[in-house]
Amino acid sequence: MVDRLAQARAAAAAVEDPEIPVLTIEDLGILRHVQLDGDTIEVTITPTYSGCPAMTVIAREIEGALTRAGFSSIRVRSVLSPAWTTDWMSEDGRRKLREYGIAPPDPSAHPACPQCGSKNTELISAFGSTACKSLHRCLTCREPFDTFKCH
Ligand SMILES: [Zn+2]
Repeated sequence: MVDRLAQARAAAAAVEDPEIPVLTIEDLGILRHVQLDGDTIEVTITPTYSGCPAMTVIAREIEGALTRAGFSSIRVRSVLSPAWTTDWMSEDGRRKLREYGIAPPDPSAHPACPQCGSKNTELISAFGSTACKSLHRCLTCREPFDTFKCH
């Protein structure tokens, strides 16, 4: 017999972040728990920051993925506490971000350039292509790049 819970977890974990499609919500650490409550699959997610507009999309995507996996009773809960931190992002997620050209979260003021690895970078704008990112420029290779914001 197939483990329904493992199936549900795999379906939820594969949901991609709408803003950074190379990352799954599991890579980001947004996916907290997948539980079976009677016949209902309950998925708990924690937004990367409160009011992140992508969360509505993510909740819909999770419902869609679970529906396609054959589940009919689905509940997606958003839990704000404990608050998401960039520490929850997996190593795999950080590597994928760099390959995508976005600097992974870095608490220092000078995140390493995802193109050349130089730390000689400067902040151009606190807001990058989305509110979750800021925009930096590399002073070594002159390329601008998005940085995933720290919280
Ligand atoms: Zn560079």
